Order: sequence, then structure tokens, then C-alpha cells
Amino acid sequence: TRKILMHVGPVTIDYEVLAAGLRGDTGFTSQEFIYAMSYSMKFLRKLMGADQSYQPFIIPGGGTSAMESVTSLLRRGDKVLVVSNGVFGDRWKQIFNRYSVAVDVIKAEPGEYVKPDDVEKAVKEEKYTLVAMTHVETSTGVRAPIAEIAKRIRDKVELIAVDGVSSVGAESVKTKELSIDVYLTASQKAIGVPPGAGLLVLSERAVSRLSDESVAGYYLNLKNWIDVMRNLEDEKGSYFATLPVHLIFMLAKAFELIEKEGLENRIKRHERVAQGIRAGIESMGLDIVAKRPEAYSNTVTAVMVKKVNPAEVLKAVIPEGLELAPGVHPALAGKYFRIGHMGWVNQNDVITTIAVLERVLKRLGEPVNLGEGVRAVQLTFT
Ligand code: PMP
Repeated sequence: TRKILMHVGPVTIDYEVLAAGLRGDTGFTSQEFIYAMSYSMKFLRKLMGADQSYQPFIIPGGGTSAMESVTSLLRRGDKVLVVSNGVFGDRWKQIFNRYSVAVDVIKAEPGEYVKPDDVEKAVKEEKYTLVAMTHVETSTGVRAPIAEIAKRIRDKVELIAVDGVSSVGAESVKTKELSIDVYLTASQKAIGVPPGAGLLVLSERAVSRLSDESVAGYYLNLKNWIDVMRNLEDEKGSYFATLPVHLIFMLAKAFELIEKEGLENRIKRHERVAQGIRAGIESMGLDIVAKRPEAYSNTVTAVMVKKVNPAEVLKAVIPEGLELAPGVHPALAGKYFRIGHMGWVNQNDVITTIAVLERVLKRLGEPVNLGEGVRAVQLTFT
């Protein structure tokens, strides 16, 4: 059976994007590659809501390499505040704990986000070099009010970094307007490319902190990458360490398709798809982990089950042509699964997802009535 991948990344990938990587004769010095990098970096600024004053980076790895590269902005003894709404918020802490910096953390209960008041209070009480946050917490599907928090703390801290791995390309991202210093994402999420690259933009303030005194290591030290990025954007070949050449062709193709769709349209499509998913889930009588509508995201819906084992659900949907993501928040272990709805996802994918879930949940013994979820999706989309 052909399968749709309603996952949290990698997601179902457009064939035009995949085909763009089929090249047998392109090295990192080829004009085609240099052009693909130059175009992708320029488009990355638009995608992030950044302007010319921001420096784009496309580095090997993914979300985690982009996150760890933020250590390039820190010096020994700097204080960092991590605002964590779940597993990926906690990852910021785990990364910074490996370096000679001091880390404080404010945490939210699963399904909630840390309130702007609490972040504001923390930065008033202590002088932080960096505040690190997560736009959409993939472990719970919770979207944080980044704009509100950024406005409250902007003039009280030196640097603000936002993990937009599950938001960029699907949610409104306003890096420049909010004067955010680092916004980052990964190739395999809402931009709909295979895994392999971390993408980020740095403000001038952030760029000015790149130095030999930073606590960063070698490979993910952005000081080692910045000249390569500048040269490639200017269409000059450049090397520090090998970039994922074939993936960059796919990335450039995805960016072309995003440009064609229009970023606003793309965000609206994600919003609509997310509404459809939630309508279907709620009409089946299931609860969503995100506790309040302001916390709903356009990209991930985490679903609590009442009777069945979520691992059984994930296994049972596969032969029916659907792959979903497991729950990963330790506090909710064994109680939920996740639906990723990002990238090239459309309304028909939502119908299929909800229809398969109805069949499978009913068969496994969850109290759902066939057709109610699908009906709610149809009503949402009509
Ligand atoms: N941050 C968030 C919000 C994520 O969802 C993920 C991956 N699911 C990461 C960081 C880490 O990204 P990667 O797995 O590409 O290293």
C-alpha cells in the first residue's frame, strides 16, 4: 500500500524535490551547486522574516547541529536561560550543559507553555547573555507565544535564540520585526526536504559575537562557516567542510516551490490542515495534548488515547497506508501519539489520516463512532 507520512520529520516529500537531488556529476565547486546555495541562503532570509542585515547559514546535520552551533555566540561563564515546554526545550539545556556556561531553566507542564510573565520575571532577576526558546515544541505540539515573550525581554537580554524546527515554513516567523538574534530550523520539517541540513539566520549582534573566545568546538563553530556562507552567497566557491551537496539541490527546489506557493499561502494551508486534524480528533472524542487553543500549532497535533496502547495504533495504521509519530514526552509515556502535518500536506491527507484512525481505533477497542471524525473534517473544509 502507498503510504502517507504524517510524521514530525522527515515528512512526505514532493517528487519534484526528490528528483532535484538526482545528480551524478556535481561536486561542491560546480556552478550549479554554488548557485543552489546562493539562492537558498537568499530565500532563507525571506522564510525567516529576516532582512539583509541577517547572515544565513546552511550547515550539515539538522535541528540539533543548528542548536549546538549557537554555542558559537557564547563565552566561558556566560549565563543562559532556557525556556522549555518539553523534550526539545530540554535539549537546549542538555547542549549548553556540555559547555562552560551557566544554565537556568524555566519549564512548563506538558501541554502548556511557559508564560511570558515568568520569562520576563526571570530576566529581570538575573542578567542573561542568551535566552533560548522553542517556537513549536514537537513533543507536545504546543506553540509558544514567541512574539509576546520577545517583546517583553528584548531590551533585557543580549541575545535571543528561537528553535523554529517545527515552525519555519508553516507558522508566522518574524525574526527582524521581533529583533531575534538566531532563528533556526532543519531541512526535514515544514520546508519538506529530506533530513541532512540545519538552517539558521544570525543578527548582526549575533555575528559580532563569533570569535576565537567562544566556547564552541570546531565543526559547529559558525566562525568557521561564515566566510563559506558569504562566498557562496556571492556565487564564489568555498570550502570549510563538505556540505550535503545533493540535499542542497533538493532544498533549492523546495524553496522555489515555496516561493511559487507564496509563504502566506503556505502558512494558511498549514493552518487549515491543522484545523481539519483537530476537528477530526475532537469529534472522535479524543483529547489533544495542547491544553488551550492559543497553544495549538499548525504542524503537530499530539493525541491522547483512552483505552488502547498508542504503540499498537502506530503499528496498525501502517498496513492501512499511514505512518504517524510516537509520543516522546516522558511525563505522558504510553498515553499518546503524534500526528505531524507539515510540508506538502493537503486536505486529502487529513481525510485519509482521520479515516484510517477511525477504522484502526475502533478495531483496537477505542470508543469511536465510524464517520464522525471524517464528517467533522468535511465540515471544516467545506
Ligand atoms: N528542535 C525541535 C523543535 C525538533 O522537533 C527537533 C527534531 N524533531 C529538533 C530540535 C532536533 O532536530 P534534528 O532531529 O534534526 O537534530
